[in-house]
Amino acid sequence: MSTEKTYEGACFCGDVQFTVTGDAAAMGYCHCDSCRSWAAAPVNAFTLWPHAQVKVTRGAENIGMHNKTPKSFRKWCKSCGGHIFTEHPAWGLTDVYAATIPRFPFAPGVHVNYQETKLPMRDGLPKMKDLPKEMGGSGDTMPE
Ligand SMILES: [Zn+2]
Ligand SMILES: [Zn+2]
Repeated sequence: MSTEKTYEGACFCGDVQFTVTGDAAAMGYCHCDSCRSWAAAPVNAFTLWPHAQVKVTRGAENIGMHNKTPKSFRKWCKSCGGHIFTEHPAWGLTDVYAATIPRFPFAPGVHVNYQETKLPMRDGLPKMKDLPKEMGGSGDTMPE
């Protein structure tokens, strides 16, 4: 028996349900153009998980997918259009939107792509200009 915690997630209408288990690899806010455009929101609250820790439990056939680039496979519910998560194959990680896992204790640690921000957030967390070095970015930080 695993003692790792599992949290339930769902799309806007509930037709698609999934779980995340264990600890997220990273959490924070992304301010990039792609996140803002796809989410139609000023910022994206992300939680990154190794693919194996994210399991679709209902409505898998109801998941639509769009990949504008091979870096991001964006998934949504075909019934309500609500976004579910985005898979990043090159990193082996799935970005589960914090808003889709309401009981998960979201604890952001970093802001990424802050040079593209439309919503400055002066919360004292590190502000990365683009991405960490290990994810292909400069690793540079910038003032809030
Ligand atoms: Zn739905
Ligand atoms: Zn982004």
